[in-house]
Amino acid sequence: MTEPQAGADPSQFTTRAVRDGDDWVINGWKFFSSNARTAEFLIVMVVTDPDVSVYKGTSMFLVPTNTPGVRLERHLGVLGETAEDGMHALIHYDDVRVPASALLGEEGGAFAIAQTRLGGGRIHHAMRTIGMAGKALDMMCERALSRHTAGSRLSEKQFVQGYIADSYAQLTQFRLFVLHTAWSIDKYNDYRRVRKDIAAIKMLIPGVLHDIASRALQVHGALGTSNEMPFTRMVNTSYLLGLADGPTEVHKVTVAKQVLRGYSPSDDLWPTEHLPRRLAAAKEKYAEYLEHEVGNL
Ligand SMILES: Cc1cc2nc3c(=O)[nH]c(=O)nc-3n(C[C@H](O)[C@H](O)[C@H](O)COP(=O)(O)OP(=O)(O)OC[C@H]3O[C@@H](n4cnc5c(N)ncnc54)[C@H](O)[C@@H]3O)c2cc1C
Repeated sequence: MTEPQAGADPSQFTTRAVRDGDDWVINGWKFFSSNARTAEFLIVMVVTDPDVSVYKGTSMFLVPTNTPGVRLERHLGVLGETAEDGMHALIHYDDVRVPASALLGEEGGAFAIAQTRLGGGRIHHAMRTIGMAGKALDMMCERALSRHTAGSRLSEKQFVQGYIADSYAQLTQFRLFVLHTAWSIDKYNDYRRVRKDIAAIKMLIPGVLHDIASRALQVHGALGTSNEMPFTRMVNTSYLLGLADGPTEVHKVTVAKQVLRGYSPSDDLWPTEHLPRRLAAAKEKYAEYLEHEVGNL
């Protein structure tokens, strides 16, 4: 999907496919295409009808990587990788000709496919985060019990106990939310119905991993910062997970919009739950009993 000039905002995608007889001809740039270096084929999301909304005018194609005109311009490394190790490519599609059978799904159906795939992808990111953060918590606890400093084990120091308690609670909340979302996906089998919770767990991923891995790093002292422990990689991964499959901010906007759908504005100057209003309503509703009570006093 992503292009050099646009990632989170698909309305700025410009890479085009134009119908030519029985073929489609693709032109443009794609950026950060994961695993393109080793992939046999690429999944490319392109504009097929620029005259309608991007949500109706984009389609997906399967393009064998060795198709003439596919140029892997360069690879980008993340997490300290060099370009030689990098697995995310900048690709130029230069008059790339594919048959009509290369169209994935329906013409104009790219977003429906993408959202279905990304829904599953996002919950997998969440599950892998539970694994990574759980491993960091295990390591933090072992180190806290093993290391002595300033007269006691680290596990007896309240700051360290706070790290462990906060991490345990954060991870447990997150795990239950992910399980609930996975259960909803199985139950409803309808991406739109589960969209809010998929976006919510995606938006929580970076914070959960960052917080727990950072505390584990800190408890390990200097060793925690070194290449002999996995914590710097975990912390950096939390930043990648705040971008891959959509930035956290965009998921928060989705969650807020979906939550707000369940509410309507107050038709009065004062909020529905304004206490004077509730009190007046209660007095009116229970007037008969209130009079009776007063009469008995
Ligand atoms: C490890 C990794 C793997 C990836 N793999 C792929 C891949 O295989 N295929 C692919 O197509 N892409 C891939 N991407 C790209 C990813 O999808 C994009 O990075 C992402 O969609 C954001 O696009 P962008 O980087 O252009 O950031 P931009 O769209 O330029 O956004 C930059 C920042 O602006 C802010 N922002 C953006 N929109 C909003 C908004 N609506 N409200 C508030 N703030 C906003 C956020 O802070 C955001 O991080 C990958 C990225 C990473 C890090």
